[in-house]
Amino acid sequence: MSVESFGVIGSGQMGNGIAQVVATSGLQVVMSDINTEFVAKGFAAIEKNLNRSVEKGKITAEDRDSTLGRIKTTTSLEDMGAVDYVVEAAVEREDLKFKIFQDLDKICPPHVILGTNTSSIPIGRIAAQTSRPEKVIGMHFMNPVPIMKLVEVIKGIATSQETFDITWELCQKFGKTPAEANDFPGFIANRILLPMINEAIFCLYQSVGKPEDIDTVMKLGMNHPMGPLALADLIGLDTCLAIMETLYDGFKDSKYRPCPLLRKYVEAGWLGRKSGRGFYQY
Ligand code: NAD
Repeated sequence: MSVESFGVIGSGQMGNGIAQVVATSGLQVVMSDINTEFVAKGFAAIEKNLNRSVEKGKITAEDRDSTLGRIKTTTSLEDMGAVDYVVEAAVEREDLKFKIFQDLDKICPPHVILGTNTSSIPIGRIAAQTSRPEKVIGMHFMNPVPIMKLVEVIKGIATSQETFDITWELCQKFGKTPAEANDFPGFIANRILLPMINEAIFCLYQSVGKPEDIDTVMKLGMNHPMGPLALADLIGLDTCLAIMETLYDGFKDSKYRPCPLLRKYVEAGWLGRKSGRGFYQY
Protein backbone atom coordinates (compact mmCIF):
# COMPACT_ATOMS: atom_id res chain seq x y z
CA MET A 1 0.00 0.00 0.00
CA SER A 2 1.50 3.35 -0.93
CA VAL A 3 0.87 6.31 1.32
CA GLU A 4 0.60 9.59 -0.59
CA SER A 5 -1.53 11.61 1.80
CA PHE A 6 -1.47 11.83 5.55
CA GLY A 7 -3.93 13.11 8.14
CA VAL A 8 -2.93 14.65 11.48
CA ILE A 9 -5.56 15.09 14.19
CA GLY A 10 -4.67 17.97 16.51
CA SER A 11 -2.64 21.07 15.57
CA GLY A 12 -0.93 21.55 18.95
CA GLN A 13 2.80 21.35 19.49
CA MET A 14 3.02 17.68 18.45
CA GLY A 15 0.42 17.78 15.68
CA ASN A 16 1.92 20.75 13.88
CA GLY A 17 5.42 19.29 14.26
CA ILE A 18 4.25 16.00 12.73
CA ALA A 19 2.47 17.84 9.90
CA GLN A 20 5.70 19.74 9.18
CA VAL A 21 7.94 16.67 8.91
CA VAL A 22 5.39 14.74 6.88
CA ALA A 23 4.89 17.61 4.42
CA THR A 24 8.67 18.12 4.22
CA SER A 25 9.00 14.49 3.12
CA GLY A 26 6.75 15.25 0.13
CA LEU A 27 3.39 13.85 1.26
CA GLN A 28 0.14 15.80 1.15
CA VAL A 29 -1.08 16.59 4.68
CA VAL A 30 -4.48 17.37 6.17
CA MET A 31 -4.13 18.82 9.69
CA SER A 32 -7.21 19.23 11.87
CA ASP A 33 -8.24 20.73 15.19
CA ILE A 34 -11.47 21.66 16.94
CA ASN A 35 -11.62 25.29 15.77
CA THR A 36 -10.12 27.61 13.16
CA GLU A 37 -8.10 29.51 15.75
CA PHE A 38 -6.20 26.36 16.78
CA VAL A 39 -5.51 25.18 13.23
CA ALA A 40 -4.34 28.68 12.29
CA LYS A 41 -2.03 28.72 15.30
CA GLY A 42 -0.64 25.32 14.31
CA PHE A 43 -0.08 26.40 10.71
CA ALA A 44 1.61 29.64 11.88
CA ALA A 45 3.97 27.59 14.06
CA ILE A 46 5.02 25.52 11.02
CA GLU A 47 5.50 28.69 8.96
CA LYS A 48 7.66 30.24 11.68
CA ASN A 49 9.78 27.10 11.96
CA LEU A 50 10.31 26.86 8.20
CA ASN A 51 11.11 30.61 8.00
CA ARG A 52 13.82 30.06 10.59
CA SER A 53 15.25 27.21 8.50
CA VAL A 54 15.30 29.51 5.45
CA GLU A 55 17.11 32.22 7.46
CA LYS A 56 19.69 29.67 8.60
CA GLY A 57 20.19 28.54 4.98
CA LYS A 58 19.02 24.98 5.72
CA ILE A 59 16.23 25.11 3.14
CA THR A 60 15.34 27.46 0.29
CA ALA A 61 12.32 29.76 0.19
CA GLU A 62 10.95 27.49 -2.58
CA ASP A 63 11.26 24.45 -0.28
CA ARG A 64 9.35 26.33 2.42
CA ASP A 65 6.61 27.38 0.02
CA SER A 66 6.17 23.91 -1.46
CA THR A 67 6.08 22.31 2.02
CA LEU A 68 3.45 24.81 3.21
CA GLY A 69 1.55 24.25 -0.05
CA ARG A 70 1.21 20.56 0.80
CA ILE A 71 -0.56 21.28 4.13
CA LYS A 72 -4.33 21.73 4.19
CA THR A 73 -6.04 22.61 7.45
CA THR A 74 -9.55 21.68 8.53
CA THR A 75 -11.90 21.66 11.50
CA SER A 76 -13.89 18.75 10.10
CA LEU A 77 -12.86 15.20 10.93
CA GLU A 78 -14.79 14.14 7.78
CA ASP A 79 -11.85 15.42 5.70
CA MET A 80 -9.80 12.47 7.02
CA GLY A 81 -11.90 10.30 4.69
CA ALA A 82 -9.62 11.32 1.81
CA VAL A 83 -6.20 10.40 3.25
CA ASP A 84 -4.17 7.18 3.16
CA TYR A 85 -2.88 7.19 6.75
CA VAL A 86 -3.96 9.07 9.89
CA VAL A 87 -2.08 9.96 13.06
CA GLU A 88 -3.97 11.29 16.04
CA ALA A 89 -2.15 13.86 18.21
CA ALA A 90 -5.01 15.37 20.22
CA VAL A 91 -4.79 15.98 23.96
CA GLU A 92 -3.81 13.05 26.19
CA ARG A 93 -7.29 12.07 27.38
CA GLU A 94 -8.58 8.57 26.95
CA ASP A 95 -12.28 9.50 26.48
CA LEU A 96 -11.38 12.03 23.81
CA LYS A 97 -9.09 9.66 21.91
CA PHE A 98 -11.70 6.88 22.11
CA LYS A 99 -14.29 9.15 20.50
CA ILE A 100 -11.86 10.25 17.77
CA PHE A 101 -11.04 6.60 16.91
CA GLN A 102 -14.72 5.59 16.88
CA ASP A 103 -15.37 8.47 14.45
CA LEU A 104 -12.28 7.81 12.31
CA ASP A 105 -13.29 4.17 11.98
CA LYS A 106 -16.53 5.30 10.34
CA ILE A 107 -14.96 8.06 8.23
CA CYS A 108 -11.80 6.38 6.87
CA PRO A 109 -11.87 3.63 4.22
CA PRO A 110 -11.17 0.17 5.72
CA HIS A 111 -7.58 -0.11 4.41
CA VAL A 112 -6.46 3.09 6.16
CA ILE A 113 -4.07 2.71 9.11
CA LEU A 114 -4.98 4.71 12.21
CA GLY A 115 -1.92 5.70 14.25
CA THR A 116 -1.81 7.45 17.59
CA ASN A 117 0.87 9.69 19.03
CA THR A 118 -0.32 8.92 22.57
CA SER A 119 2.38 9.15 25.22
CA SER A 120 0.95 6.44 27.39
CA ILE A 121 -2.58 5.24 26.66
CA PRO A 122 -2.54 1.53 25.77
CA ILE A 123 -2.68 0.97 22.00
CA GLY A 124 -4.88 -2.10 22.55
CA ARG A 125 -7.53 -0.03 24.35
CA ILE A 126 -7.61 2.55 21.56
CA ALA A 127 -7.65 -0.20 18.90
CA ALA A 128 -10.66 -1.82 20.59
CA GLN A 129 -12.70 1.29 19.75
CA THR A 130 -12.46 0.40 16.07
CA SER A 131 -13.47 -2.47 13.79
CA ARG A 132 -9.84 -2.61 12.50
CA PRO A 133 -7.61 -3.25 15.54
CA GLU A 134 -4.99 -4.83 13.25
CA LYS A 135 -4.61 -1.41 11.60
CA VAL A 136 -4.15 0.60 14.80
CA ILE A 137 -0.60 1.37 15.96
CA GLY A 138 1.39 3.74 18.15
CA MET A 139 3.52 6.24 16.23
CA HIS A 140 5.10 8.16 19.07
CA PHE A 141 7.09 11.18 17.94
CA MET A 142 9.31 13.14 20.32
CA ASN A 143 9.12 16.85 21.08
CA PRO A 144 10.14 19.02 19.22
CA VAL A 145 9.19 16.79 16.29
CA PRO A 146 11.24 18.49 13.53
CA ILE A 147 14.42 18.15 15.61
CA MET A 148 14.15 14.85 17.49
CA LYS A 149 15.20 11.78 15.49
CA LEU A 150 13.26 9.11 17.38
CA VAL A 151 9.84 7.66 16.73
CA GLU A 152 8.70 4.82 19.01
CA VAL A 153 6.57 2.44 16.98
CA ILE A 154 4.26 0.56 19.31
CA LYS A 155 2.49 -2.66 18.43
CA GLY A 156 -0.80 -3.33 20.15
CA ILE A 157 -1.70 -6.95 20.80
CA ALA A 158 -3.75 -7.04 17.56
CA THR A 159 -1.53 -4.84 15.35
CA SER A 160 -0.59 -6.69 12.15
CA GLN A 161 2.95 -7.06 10.85
CA GLU A 162 1.88 -5.24 7.66
CA THR A 163 0.69 -2.23 9.67
CA PHE A 164 3.96 -2.28 11.59
CA ASP A 165 6.09 -2.49 8.43
CA ILE A 166 4.26 0.35 6.66
CA THR A 167 4.59 2.55 9.76
CA TRP A 168 8.28 1.71 10.19
CA GLU A 169 9.02 2.63 6.57
CA LEU A 170 7.05 5.87 6.87
CA CYS A 171 9.14 6.91 9.89
CA GLN A 172 12.27 6.39 7.79
CA LYS A 173 10.74 8.36 4.92
CA PHE A 174 10.18 11.22 7.40
CA GLY A 175 13.91 11.16 8.20
CA LYS A 176 13.37 9.57 11.62
CA THR A 177 14.86 6.53 13.31
CA PRO A 178 12.15 4.17 14.57
CA ALA A 179 12.46 1.97 17.65
CA GLU A 180 10.09 -0.92 18.33
CA ALA A 181 8.18 -1.12 21.59
CA ASN A 182 5.42 -3.34 22.93
CA ASP A 183 2.20 -2.14 24.45
CA PHE A 184 2.84 -1.70 28.19
CA PRO A 185 2.07 1.53 30.05
CA GLY A 186 4.43 4.32 29.02
CA PHE A 187 6.04 2.08 26.35
CA ILE A 188 9.83 2.56 26.57
CA ALA A 189 10.46 6.32 26.44
CA ASN A 190 7.99 7.53 29.03
CA ARG A 191 8.32 4.45 31.25
CA ILE A 192 11.87 5.63 31.87
CA LEU A 193 11.65 9.40 31.41
CA LEU A 194 8.55 10.31 33.40
CA PRO A 195 9.49 8.64 36.71
CA MET A 196 12.73 10.64 36.51
CA ILE A 197 10.82 13.89 35.92
CA ASN A 198 8.37 12.99 38.71
CA GLU A 199 11.31 12.38 41.07
CA ALA A 200 12.73 15.80 40.17
CA ILE A 201 9.35 17.31 41.10
CA PHE A 202 9.47 15.44 44.43
CA CYS A 203 12.92 17.01 45.01
CA LEU A 204 11.34 20.42 44.56
CA TYR A 205 8.29 19.47 46.66
CA GLN A 206 10.49 18.35 49.56
CA SER A 207 12.76 21.40 49.18
CA VAL A 208 15.76 19.26 48.34
CA GLY A 209 16.65 21.87 45.74
CA LYS A 210 15.39 24.87 43.78
CA PRO A 211 14.35 24.28 40.13
CA GLU A 212 17.56 25.82 38.78
CA ASP A 213 19.70 23.62 41.04
CA ILE A 214 17.79 20.43 40.27
CA ASP A 215 18.17 21.10 36.55
CA THR A 216 21.85 22.11 36.86
CA VAL A 217 22.63 18.84 38.66
CA MET A 218 21.09 16.77 35.88
CA LYS A 219 22.58 18.87 33.06
CA LEU A 220 26.13 19.17 34.32
CA GLY A 221 26.24 16.07 36.49
CA MET A 222 24.53 13.62 34.14
CA ASN A 223 25.20 15.37 30.83
CA HIS A 224 21.49 15.72 30.02
CA PRO A 225 20.91 18.43 27.40
CA MET A 226 17.99 19.81 29.45
CA GLY A 227 17.12 19.57 33.12
CA PRO A 228 14.05 17.46 34.03
CA LEU A 229 11.95 20.42 35.22
CA ALA A 230 12.66 22.48 32.09
CA LEU A 231 11.83 19.37 30.07
CA ALA A 232 8.56 18.90 32.00
CA ASP A 233 7.65 22.52 31.12
CA LEU A 234 8.39 21.75 27.47
CA ILE A 235 6.33 18.54 27.43
CA GLY A 236 3.42 20.23 29.24
CA LEU A 237 2.63 19.53 32.90
CA ASP A 238 -0.88 18.28 32.03
CA THR A 239 0.68 15.72 29.70
CA CYS A 240 3.25 14.74 32.37
CA LEU A 241 0.46 14.22 34.92
CA ALA A 242 -1.60 12.18 32.45
CA ILE A 243 1.38 9.90 31.75
CA MET A 244 2.15 9.38 35.45
CA GLU A 245 -1.50 8.51 36.08
CA THR A 246 -1.44 5.99 33.25
CA LEU A 247 1.72 4.38 34.68
CA TYR A 248 0.17 4.32 38.16
CA ASP A 249 -3.16 2.92 36.94
CA GLY A 250 -1.44 0.41 34.68
CA PHE A 251 1.00 -1.07 37.20
CA LYS A 252 -0.71 -0.24 40.51
CA ASP A 253 2.78 0.30 41.88
CA SER A 254 3.23 3.24 44.28
CA LYS A 255 6.56 4.14 42.70
CA TYR A 256 4.56 5.69 39.86
CA ARG A 257 2.33 7.94 42.04
CA PRO A 258 2.32 11.46 40.60
CA CYS A 259 3.93 14.05 42.89
CA PRO A 260 1.17 16.14 44.59
CA LEU A 261 3.01 19.30 43.51
CA LEU A 262 2.62 18.30 39.84
CA ARG A 263 -1.13 17.94 40.35
CA LYS A 264 -1.28 21.30 42.13
CA TYR A 265 0.45 23.07 39.23
CA VAL A 266 -1.90 21.48 36.69
CA GLU A 267 -4.95 22.44 38.76
CA ALA A 268 -3.68 26.03 38.85
CA GLY A 269 -3.38 26.04 35.05
CA TRP A 270 0.43 26.21 35.27
CA LEU A 271 1.07 23.86 32.37
CA GLY A 272 4.61 24.89 31.43
CA ARG A 273 5.69 26.76 28.32
CA LYS A 274 2.32 26.54 26.60
CA SER A 275 0.59 28.49 29.39
CA GLY A 276 3.53 30.80 30.13
CA ARG A 277 4.19 29.36 33.58
CA GLY A 278 5.32 26.04 34.96
CA PHE A 279 8.42 25.39 37.03
CA TYR A 280 9.79 28.45 35.23
CA GLN A 281 8.17 31.64 33.89
CA TYR A 282 8.07 32.14 30.10
P1 NAD B 1 -1.34 20.22 22.83
O1 NAD B 1 -2.19 20.57 23.98
O2 NAD B 1 -0.23 21.14 22.41
O3 NAD B 1 -2.24 19.97 21.52
C1 NAD B 1 -3.36 19.15 21.50
C2 NAD B 1 -4.32 19.70 20.47
O4 NAD B 1 -5.38 18.75 20.30
C3 NAD B 1 -4.98 21.03 20.88
O5 NAD B 1 -4.73 22.00 19.88
C4 NAD B 1 -6.46 20.66 20.98
O6 NAD B 1 -7.33 21.71 20.60
C5 NAD B 1 -6.54 19.49 20.00
N1 NAD B 1 -7.74 18.67 20.13
C6 NAD B 1 -8.44 18.37 21.24
N2 NAD B 1 -9.52 17.63 20.92
C7 NAD B 1 -9.48 17.44 19.58
C8 NAD B 1 -10.32 16.76 18.66
N3 NAD B 1 -11.42 16.12 19.06
N4 NAD B 1 -9.99 16.78 17.36
C9 NAD B 1 -8.88 17.43 16.94
N5 NAD B 1 -8.07 18.10 17.78
C10 NAD B 1 -8.35 18.10 19.07
O7 NAD B 1 -0.76 18.75 23.17
P2 NAD B 1 0.52 18.03 22.54
O8 NAD B 1 1.69 18.26 23.43
O9 NAD B 1 0.61 18.36 21.08
O10 NAD B 1 0.11 16.50 22.73
C11 NAD B 1 -0.69 15.81 21.79
C12 NAD B 1 -0.51 14.32 21.95
O11 NAD B 1 0.87 13.98 21.75
C13 NAD B 1 -0.87 13.77 23.33
O12 NAD B 1 -1.42 12.50 23.19
C14 NAD B 1 0.48 13.69 24.03
O13 NAD B 1 0.50 12.74 25.05
C15 NAD B 1 1.36 13.27 22.86
N6 NAD B 1 2.78 13.58 23.00
C16 NAD B 1 3.20 14.74 23.58
C17 NAD B 1 4.55 15.01 23.69
C18 NAD B 1 5.01 16.29 24.31
O14 NAD B 1 6.22 16.41 24.60
N7 NAD B 1 4.14 17.26 24.51
C19 NAD B 1 5.50 14.10 23.20
C20 NAD B 1 5.04 12.93 22.58
C21 NAD B 1 3.68 12.67 22.49
